[in-house]
Amino acid sequence: MSEKTLAIIKPDAVKKGVIGKIISRIEDEKFKITAMRLAKLTKDEAKGFYIVHNDKPFYGPLTDFMSSGPIVLMRLEREDAIAHWRKIMGATDPAKAEPGTLRRLYGSSIENNATHGSDAPETAAWELAYFFKG
Ligand code: ADP
Ligand code: MG
Repeated sequence: MSEKTLAIIKPDAVKKGVIGKIISRIEDEKFKITAMRLAKLTKDEAKGFYIVHNDKPFYGPLTDFMSSGPIVLMRLEREDAIAHWRKIMGATDPAKAEPGTLRRLYGSSIENNATHGSDAPETAAWELAYFFKG
């Protein structure tokens, strides 16, 4: 059954100039991109998006990083989109991510890890509503 997930190309990957490479991979993996925009988050928007992590030691640096430059927001659709996108991204820490995954290819640290993906149907719905109204 078709499913939707939120994907983000994070500021480090935009700065590296790999938007095109990441979108090319998304298309190769048979996702449909059904919404997409470039955004520059305010610190408050980043804090709201990562509110589930507000008790973590990395919340401050993470929200500084996510509001540090342009990002690409995408709604991706395909069968099993949530799990498949997370598989394509690889583990949170690029050093632990499988070869060929986006985080291994384009991430540089556990914080600057190139991409974001929702982790469950409920969070996907919440995250998509956060950035794409309607
Ligand atoms: P994921 O993005 O794989 O779902 P989490 O939801 O656990 O990972 O964390 C959200 C984001 O916070 C990560 O993608 C990463 O950018 C950052 N992060 C997670 N863990 C750490 C950590 N230990 N130190 C610094 N940043 C972290
Ligand atoms: Mg997460």
